Amino acid sequence: MGLELPTADDGQPESAVGVWQSPTALWLERRIVQHTTLALGVAFALIAMPAPRRDWSEVVVAGIAALALIGIASVTHRLPRVTVVLVPLGYLAVAALLRDSAGGSLSGFGGLYLLPILWLSLCATAPELVIGLFGLVAAQLVPLLVIGSPHYPSSGWRSAFVQVSVAAIAGFTIQRLTRMTVASAAESGARARELEQATVQLSEQNRRLVELDQLKDNVVALVSHELRTPLTSIIGYLEMVRDDDRALSPAQTGYIEIAMRNADRLTIVVNDLLFLARLESSELTVTLRPVDVSLLLADALEAAKPTAEAKQIVVAVDVAGPCVCLGDRERLVQLIENLVSNAVKFTPPGGQVRISAAEVDGLLEVAVGDTGIGIEPAEIAHIFSRFYRTSSAMDDGIPGTGLGLAIAQSIAKAHGSVIGVESIPGTGTTFRFSLPSPSRGQQLESRA
Ligand code: ADP
Repeated sequence: MGLELPTADDGQPESAVGVWQSPTALWLERRIVQHTTLALGVAFALIAMPAPRRDWSEVVVAGIAALALIGIASVTHRLPRVTVVLVPLGYLAVAALLRDSAGGSLSGFGGLYLLPILWLSLCATAPELVIGLFGLVAAQLVPLLVIGSPHYPSSGWRSAFVQVSVAAIAGFTIQRLTRMTVASAAESGARARELEQATVQLSEQNRRLVELDQLKDNVVALVSHELRTPLTSIIGYLEMVRDDDRALSPAQTGYIEIAMRNADRLTIVVNDLLFLARLESSELTVTLRPVDVSLLLADALEAAKPTAEAKQIVVAVDVAGPCVCLGDRERLVQLIENLVSNAVKFTPPGGQVRISAAEVDGLLEVAVGDTGIGIEPAEIAHIFSRFYRTSSAMDDGIPGTGLGLAIAQSIAKAHGSVIGVESIPGTGTTFRFSLPSPSRGQQLESRA
């Protein structure tokens, strides 16, 4: 009806007078003048059909009533809600006149009575539809009672009864279906709006996380650079003082050794941070060449020896058969030393660490096992994430940064491999990864 329509809280549309209406009803009401004109036009066009009789005076009266009806239709939006039934009732009256002018029951015009009922079932409330049905009953019965035979023979009672029943069933069914459709459309609309809001929130959170991540990487890179230069200088001067043993007492030499060990640890942390910061900005590239892994394992054993001996941990190297793989030597040293130093670090005094390499299905499988504190199953999925440390590692006060495994995994991936873990808390852990053997490929550039 040309209205600006508010939306109810439950997402269902209301007309300007606050009555629930389906979108179809609103669409019909907004075009009430066009629809009324069209329906009346069709009714008058049907007058041209051959008919048992023709009463032009009634046609003229019907024409005047039709014009009045179009006038009412054009102002319904300014009238009270009750006028919603005025146009359909008026239409019933016009149709009744036209029916009578064309011969009554024999004219076949009775079908026109269904149009306003259809209209009301789509646009109106149930009580309004009931009013329309009463109008239909009146349009059928008044001529039967007042005029009667021959234009309205007694057989007309039967068809009147059938038409009213069909109209009532159809009208209420349409109303119910329309309500159900609108209710489910409103529900879907509400869900869609919720999803839309959630998507907007998620993308905003994502944007902020990306920003924070970027900020963190920048800070890490900056701090690492700033630490590296002074550290190099500190270590250099410490070495100079240590080598100049004329000036130092044995106690002072011990202090210098401790300072150097800590400076070395700090260097490892700074190097790890820088390595990861570079990984963020560019992919890790490795140059694959034949590498004798048994030598790398022996080197790792040497590197771990001082700590292992201090904790009375037995480190055994078990290498079976040919041990050459395709890999980037420098990176593999980093990877294996990381796993071995972890194995020693997370194994209590008196435990054992076993490093092995063997050919399995044409690949060289390297394994580092220990009898250490182990990892809870729920934490295994996280240990390769940067800065992640298991609760038992922290509870036991074992030092670390949570960077080693992230670096080790990125190196393994750059070699087309993935580090696997088996662990039983309190019993031990084994890390495993496979490397391509030289027979599987030429020297090539591989990317992570
Ligand atoms: P860091 O050793 O500096 O703490 P890593 O990235 O090397 O960091 O390891 C991440 C975490 O995985 C460790 O903090 C520890 O909780 C767990 N972890 C790694 N290796 C072992 C191991 N051999 N036994 C038990 N836990 C381990």
